[in-house]
Amino acid sequence: METQIIIAVDGFASCGKSTLAKALAKSLDYIYIDTGAMYRAVTLYFLENKVNIKDEPSVMQALDDINIRFQILDKKNTTFLNGKNIEEEIRKMYVSEWVSEVATVSAVRRAMVKQQREMGQQKGVILDGRDIGTVVFPDAKLKFFMTASLEVRTQRRLTELQNQDRSLTPEAVAKNLQHRDHIDSTRDDSPLRQAKDAVVIDNSNITQEEQLAMCLALVNMRIA
Ligand code: C5P
Repeated sequence: METQIIIAVDGFASCGKSTLAKALAKSLDYIYIDTGAMYRAVTLYFLENKVNIKDEPSVMQALDDINIRFQILDKKNTTFLNGKNIEEEIRKMYVSEWVSEVATVSAVRRAMVKQQREMGQQKGVILDGRDIGTVVFPDAKLKFFMTASLEVRTQRRLTELQNQDRSLTPEAVAKNLQHRDHIDSTRDDSPLRQAKDAVVIDNSNITQEEQLAMCLALVNMRIA
Protein backbone atom coordinates (compact mmCIF):
# COMPACT_ATOMS: atom_id res chain seq x y z
CA MET A 1 0.00 0.00 0.00
CA GLU A 2 1.22 3.52 -0.79
CA THR A 3 2.07 5.63 2.24
CA GLN A 4 -0.57 8.11 3.27
CA ILE A 5 0.70 11.69 3.47
CA ILE A 6 -1.17 14.37 5.39
CA ILE A 7 -0.34 18.09 5.32
CA ALA A 8 -2.04 20.24 7.99
CA VAL A 9 -2.65 23.96 7.47
CA ASP A 10 -3.93 25.68 10.62
CA GLY A 11 -4.07 29.29 11.69
CA PHE A 12 -6.13 32.36 12.41
CA ALA A 13 -9.26 33.49 10.54
CA SER A 14 -8.72 34.81 7.00
CA CYS A 15 -4.96 34.44 6.98
CA GLY A 16 -4.91 32.66 3.63
CA LYS A 17 -5.03 29.05 4.83
CA SER A 18 -7.39 27.90 2.12
CA THR A 19 -5.51 29.79 -0.62
CA LEU A 20 -2.29 28.06 0.37
CA ALA A 21 -3.89 24.65 0.95
CA LYS A 22 -5.67 24.72 -2.43
CA ALA A 23 -2.54 25.82 -4.27
CA LEU A 24 -0.45 23.09 -2.60
CA ALA A 25 -3.12 20.47 -3.36
CA LYS A 26 -3.14 21.53 -7.01
CA SER A 27 0.66 21.48 -7.32
CA LEU A 28 1.02 18.14 -5.54
CA ASP A 29 -2.16 16.52 -6.91
CA TYR A 30 -3.42 15.94 -3.36
CA ILE A 31 -7.03 15.97 -2.10
CA TYR A 32 -8.01 19.25 -0.40
CA ILE A 33 -10.39 19.28 2.57
CA ASP A 34 -11.80 22.56 3.83
CA THR A 35 -12.72 21.71 7.43
CA GLY A 36 -13.95 25.26 8.14
CA ALA A 37 -16.61 24.71 5.47
CA MET A 38 -17.82 21.69 7.46
CA TYR A 39 -18.33 23.77 10.64
CA ARG A 40 -19.98 26.44 8.50
CA ALA A 41 -22.34 23.84 6.97
CA VAL A 42 -23.36 22.62 10.44
CA THR A 43 -23.93 26.23 11.50
CA LEU A 44 -26.14 26.91 8.49
CA TYR A 45 -28.18 23.78 9.28
CA PHE A 46 -28.53 24.80 12.95
CA LEU A 47 -29.63 28.32 11.97
CA GLU A 48 -32.12 27.14 9.34
CA ASN A 49 -33.57 24.50 11.66
CA LYS A 50 -33.40 26.55 14.85
CA VAL A 51 -31.23 24.00 16.67
CA ASN A 52 -30.25 25.27 20.11
CA ILE A 53 -26.59 24.39 20.75
CA LYS A 54 -27.33 23.97 24.47
CA ASP A 55 -30.00 21.33 23.79
CA GLU A 56 -27.90 18.16 23.47
CA PRO A 57 -30.61 15.77 22.18
CA SER A 58 -31.51 18.28 19.43
CA VAL A 59 -27.84 18.72 18.53
CA MET A 60 -27.34 14.93 18.33
CA GLN A 61 -30.48 14.52 16.21
CA ALA A 62 -29.37 17.33 13.89
CA LEU A 63 -25.89 15.83 13.51
CA ASP A 64 -27.52 12.54 12.47
CA ASP A 65 -29.52 14.40 9.84
CA ILE A 66 -26.56 16.29 8.39
CA ASN A 67 -24.66 15.03 5.39
CA ILE A 68 -21.72 17.12 4.19
CA ARG A 69 -19.76 16.40 1.07
CA PHE A 70 -17.40 18.21 -1.28
CA GLN A 71 -17.42 18.19 -5.04
CA ILE A 72 -15.38 20.01 -7.65
CA LEU A 73 -17.76 22.21 -9.65
CA ASP A 74 -16.47 24.55 -12.38
CA LYS A 75 -12.97 23.74 -11.08
CA LYS A 76 -13.95 25.00 -7.61
CA ASN A 77 -14.15 23.08 -4.36
CA THR A 78 -17.89 23.20 -3.56
CA THR A 79 -19.64 22.28 -0.31
CA PHE A 80 -22.95 20.40 -0.29
CA LEU A 81 -25.28 20.05 2.69
CA ASN A 82 -27.84 17.27 2.32
CA GLY A 83 -27.45 17.42 -1.45
CA LYS A 84 -27.75 21.22 -1.74
CA ASN A 85 -24.94 23.47 -2.96
CA ILE A 86 -24.32 25.81 0.00
CA GLU A 87 -20.88 27.10 -0.98
CA GLU A 88 -21.96 30.73 -1.32
CA GLU A 89 -24.36 30.79 1.63
CA ILE A 90 -21.84 29.49 4.20
CA ARG A 91 -19.40 32.33 3.43
CA LYS A 92 -21.97 35.01 4.38
CA MET A 93 -21.53 37.16 7.45
CA TYR A 94 -24.53 35.77 9.38
CA VAL A 95 -22.90 32.32 9.25
CA SER A 96 -19.47 33.73 10.24
CA GLU A 97 -21.15 35.37 13.22
CA TRP A 98 -22.29 32.01 14.66
CA VAL A 99 -19.81 29.45 13.40
CA SER A 100 -17.31 29.74 16.26
CA GLU A 101 -20.04 29.27 18.88
CA VAL A 102 -21.22 26.14 17.08
CA ALA A 103 -17.61 24.92 16.80
CA THR A 104 -17.26 24.98 20.62
CA VAL A 105 -19.82 22.15 20.95
CA SER A 106 -17.96 18.89 21.63
CA ALA A 107 -20.57 16.70 19.94
CA VAL A 108 -20.19 18.79 16.77
CA ARG A 109 -16.41 18.53 16.91
CA ARG A 110 -16.51 14.76 17.47
CA ALA A 111 -18.75 14.31 14.42
CA MET A 112 -16.61 16.56 12.20
CA VAL A 113 -13.28 15.06 13.31
CA LYS A 114 -14.61 11.53 12.62
CA GLN A 115 -15.58 12.56 9.07
CA GLN A 116 -12.30 14.41 8.51
CA ARG A 117 -10.32 11.32 9.53
CA GLU A 118 -12.39 9.20 7.16
CA MET A 119 -11.94 11.69 4.31
CA GLY A 120 -8.22 11.68 5.09
CA GLN A 121 -7.86 8.03 4.10
CA GLN A 122 -6.34 8.90 0.72
CA LYS A 123 -2.78 8.86 -0.49
CA GLY A 124 -2.11 12.61 -0.31
CA VAL A 125 -4.39 14.95 1.62
CA ILE A 126 -4.20 18.60 2.68
CA LEU A 127 -6.62 19.84 5.30
CA ASP A 128 -7.02 23.40 6.46
CA GLY A 129 -8.58 24.35 9.77
CA ARG A 130 -7.79 25.12 13.38
CA ASP A 131 -7.01 21.76 15.01
CA ILE A 132 -5.69 19.64 12.15
CA GLY A 133 -2.06 19.44 13.28
CA THR A 134 -2.93 19.22 16.98
CA VAL A 135 -6.02 16.98 17.15
CA VAL A 136 -7.29 15.58 13.84
CA PHE A 137 -3.95 14.43 12.43
CA PRO A 138 -1.28 15.02 15.11
CA ASP A 139 1.09 12.81 13.07
CA ALA A 140 0.72 14.86 9.88
CA LYS A 141 3.90 14.74 7.83
CA LEU A 142 4.09 18.52 7.54
CA LYS A 143 2.26 21.22 9.50
CA PHE A 144 1.91 24.88 8.68
CA PHE A 145 0.63 27.46 11.15
CA MET A 146 -0.41 30.64 9.42
CA THR A 147 -0.86 34.15 10.60
CA ALA A 148 -1.01 37.70 9.22
CA SER A 149 -1.68 41.14 10.64
CA LEU A 150 -5.29 42.01 11.46
CA GLU A 151 -5.21 44.82 8.86
CA VAL A 152 -4.14 42.49 6.07
CA ARG A 153 -6.64 39.80 7.09
CA THR A 154 -9.47 42.34 7.29
CA GLN A 155 -8.69 43.69 3.84
CA ARG A 156 -8.60 40.20 2.32
CA ARG A 157 -11.90 39.21 3.89
CA LEU A 158 -13.51 42.49 2.89
CA THR A 159 -12.47 41.99 -0.72
CA GLU A 160 -13.97 38.48 -0.67
CA LEU A 161 -17.22 39.63 0.91
CA GLN A 162 -17.79 42.89 -0.88
CA ASN A 163 -19.23 41.18 -3.96
CA GLN A 164 -21.97 39.85 -1.70
CA ASP A 165 -22.56 42.77 0.63
CA ARG A 166 -21.31 46.27 -0.16
CA SER A 167 -22.55 47.68 3.13
CA LEU A 168 -19.91 45.77 5.15
CA THR A 169 -17.39 47.99 6.90
CA PRO A 170 -13.74 47.17 7.73
CA GLU A 171 -14.66 47.60 11.41
CA ALA A 172 -17.42 44.95 11.25
CA VAL A 173 -15.13 42.51 9.43
CA ALA A 174 -12.20 43.07 11.81
CA LYS A 175 -14.52 42.62 14.79
CA ASN A 176 -15.77 39.30 13.45
CA LEU A 177 -12.22 38.03 12.81
CA GLN A 178 -11.11 38.98 16.32
CA HIS A 179 -14.27 37.50 17.85
CA ARG A 180 -13.75 34.17 16.06
CA ASP A 181 -10.02 34.04 16.88
CA HIS A 182 -10.83 34.67 20.53
CA ILE A 183 -13.49 31.94 20.79
CA ASP A 184 -11.42 29.51 18.70
CA SER A 185 -8.32 30.03 20.86
CA THR A 186 -10.03 29.89 24.25
CA ARG A 187 -12.57 27.08 23.85
CA ASP A 188 -12.08 23.98 26.06
CA ASP A 189 -12.35 21.40 23.30
CA SER A 190 -9.52 21.47 20.71
CA PRO A 191 -8.59 25.15 20.94
CA LEU A 192 -6.68 26.78 18.09
CA ARG A 193 -3.03 26.23 18.98
CA GLN A 194 0.20 26.17 17.06
CA ALA A 195 1.45 22.57 17.00
CA LYS A 196 4.97 22.31 18.45
CA ASP A 197 6.30 20.92 15.18
CA ALA A 198 4.47 23.41 12.90
CA VAL A 199 6.24 25.74 10.50
CA VAL A 200 4.96 29.26 11.18
CA ILE A 201 4.18 31.46 8.20
CA ASP A 202 3.37 35.13 8.58
CA ASN A 203 2.16 36.14 5.13
CA SER A 204 1.41 39.81 5.86
CA ASN A 205 4.17 40.94 3.53
CA ILE A 206 4.65 38.17 1.00
CA THR A 207 2.75 37.37 -2.18
CA GLN A 208 0.75 34.19 -2.70
CA GLU A 209 3.35 33.06 -5.25
CA GLU A 210 6.23 33.58 -2.80
CA GLN A 211 4.31 31.74 -0.10
CA LEU A 212 3.57 28.79 -2.38
CA ALA A 213 7.18 28.57 -3.56
CA MET A 214 8.41 28.59 0.03
CA CYS A 215 5.98 25.90 1.13
CA LEU A 216 6.64 23.71 -1.91
CA ALA A 217 10.36 23.89 -1.14
CA LEU A 218 9.60 22.64 2.37
CA VAL A 219 7.39 19.86 1.01
CA ASN A 220 10.25 18.78 -1.25
CA MET A 221 12.69 18.78 1.64
CA ARG A 222 10.47 16.97 4.12
CA ILE A 223 8.30 14.72 1.98
CA ALA A 224 9.35 14.17 -1.60
O1 C5P B 1 -11.74 28.26 8.10
P1 C5P B 1 -12.98 29.08 8.35
O2 C5P B 1 -12.67 30.50 8.71
O3 C5P B 1 -14.00 28.96 7.28
O4 C5P B 1 -13.62 28.41 9.65
C1 C5P B 1 -14.81 28.90 10.22
C2 C5P B 1 -14.84 28.56 11.69
O5 C5P B 1 -14.97 27.14 11.86
C3 C5P B 1 -13.63 28.93 12.51
O6 C5P B 1 -13.66 30.29 12.94
C4 C5P B 1 -13.74 27.97 13.69
O7 C5P B 1 -14.64 28.45 14.66
C5 C5P B 1 -14.33 26.73 13.06
N1 C5P B 1 -13.33 25.71 12.75
C6 C5P B 1 -12.91 24.89 13.78
N2 C5P B 1 -12.05 23.86 13.51
C7 C5P B 1 -11.60 23.65 12.27
C8 C5P B 1 -11.99 24.51 11.21
C9 C5P B 1 -12.85 25.55 11.51
O8 C5P B 1 -13.30 25.07 14.92
N3 C5P B 1 -10.78 22.62 12.02
